[in-house]
Amino acid sequence: VFAAIAQAPEDPILGVTVAYNKDPSPIKLNLGVGAYRTEEGKPLVLNVVRKAEQFLVNDHAAIEENRVATAQCLSGTGSLRVGAEFLAKHYHQHTIYIPLPSWGNHLKVFTMAGLSVKTYRYYDPTTRGLNFQGLLEDLGAAPAGAMVLLHACAHNPTGVDPTLEQWEQIRQLIRSKGLLPFFDSAYQGFASGSLDADAQPVRMFVADGGECLVAQSYAKNMGLYGERVGALSIVCKAADVASRVESQLKLVIRPMYSNPPIHGASIAATILKNSDMYDEWKIELKAMADRIISMRKQLFDALSARGTPGDWSHIIKQIGMFTFTGLNSDQVAFMTKEYHIYMTSDGRISMAGLSSKTVPHLADAIHAAVTR
Ligand code: PMP
Repeated sequence: VFAAIAQAPEDPILGVTVAYNKDPSPIKLNLGVGAYRTEEGKPLVLNVVRKAEQFLVNDHAAIEENRVATAQCLSGTGSLRVGAEFLAKHYHQHTIYIPLPSWGNHLKVFTMAGLSVKTYRYYDPTTRGLNFQGLLEDLGAAPAGAMVLLHACAHNPTGVDPTLEQWEQIRQLIRSKGLLPFFDSAYQGFASGSLDADAQPVRMFVADGGECLVAQSYAKNMGLYGERVGALSIVCKAADVASRVESQLKLVIRPMYSNPPIHGASIAATILKNSDMYDEWKIELKAMADRIISMRKQLFDALSARGTPGDWSHIIKQIGMFTFTGLNSDQVAFMTKEYHIYMTSDGRISMAGLSSKTVPHLADAIHAAVTR
């Protein structure tokens, strides 16, 4: 039907460029097209465009391919719970491995959803670092298909994270055994100060094309604690699977609380969608992370200055909001009674609650507790 269509003439403006391109003269000058050029005669890519482009590029291929089923949930806890309910109903394995120790609520959230909770070795009290060998052994011995809860970054309560090389080994083990990774991402941005760097472990698992779940909280990194903003994402292998998974997520949520509140989530969405605000968020988040890192340094220096017995280098080495001090429950009770300092009995202190003014008081208390 289009066979009789005639060739259109050259556009009068674009035709100028065609002629210009054909001209071999070294002094040729194209003043035909009204497109901005730099002093060097080059097209200009505006910085803001680069930024926006970067922002779009940040959308992961899995999202572009519609392989991710996402539901807005009630902050990190609600995202974990919806994920747990979904797995209890639709996943063939009902055992989930959580690190030892882990955030206290993990055990309750998964148990209440009907899953059976086991632990894998994670923290080594002697090095106050990662028991990597124990972790590999325990996950290696887990039954095929078992679920594994992983703290995406800034492990709570220990402040100990695997290195990227260790993450890669964990990933290989999990994939080779067909375990199902479930990431709890409650502190993205707080470990390194960079959202991208802190997302690396999750991205490694998404990049290999396999399935995983991610519970994302915006409570800490956007300071929206009371708004309960979070999301559960289930990364699937194909778009049709993701759309069926999403339909089932709705069925899980409907009888629990029907719909999430809208106010906090629209604030978070506005920040995430607007590249200026997104950049501003990254700067403010980095400032929070940097202040925490500076508290680590100040506390470490204060203990060194007091000659407090023991090796306190873990205060600087640990990552994120918490320091797992190694203080025992007696020492914690002593510090509360004599110094009015409050912390969990496992010796975990939130570095975010410290300030330059209060560091000396805490250092005095720790010194007194360990030299008592
Ligand atoms: N996971 C971890 C590891 C946490 O530390 C927390 C908060 N303490 C949560 C999840 C839950 O966070 P939210 O307040 O967003 O429910």
